[in-house]
Amino acid sequence: MSCLFCSIAEKRVPASVVYEDEDTLAFLDVNPMAPGHTLIIPKSHAETILDLEEDKLGLLIEAVASVEKLIFESLKPSGFTWGVNQGKISGQEVPHLHIHLVPRFPGDGGSSFQGLVKNIPKESIKEIAAKINPKNG
Ligand code: 5GP
Ligand code: ZN
Repeated sequence: MSCLFCSIAEKRVPASVVYEDEDTLAFLDVNPMAPGHTLIIPKSHAETILDLEEDKLGLLIEAVASVEKLIFESLKPSGFTWGVNQGKISGQEVPHLHIHLVPRFPGDGGSSFQGLVKNIPKESIKEIAAKINPKNG
């Protein structure tokens, strides 16, 4: 199977790497939304979080935090937005799990995450909670 981000993780395709550890690689997005827009990936292939080995998710989040610290100290943004597109409907183009880390600067034209989707539920919040987890709903 050919996967672009597996190829980047294996250093067969070049990328501007800003962080690496045993399980994780972080590199700048080739089409950045902002200075320092970074993609953080698990080195082992997983299409979404649901496919990732359980013990790898914590490591991935820890790596995002490490990259955020590096960017905070170097580029000095005012804040950050994290984003994970999962599935075609969400706009996932590369089917290898990646977390977008977008540094936020004054006047960057962006909005908050809550502005992304407008699909107000017809059922009550309690009903939906009960569907998701009947124990707690
Ligand atoms: P998605 O929509 O799947 O969440 O985002 C994929 C991201 O990967 C896009 O923002 C796109 O610019 C980035 N991208 C696609 N191909 C490459 C590449 O070859 N190298 C790098 N560094 N980024 C890429
Ligand atoms: Zn892959």
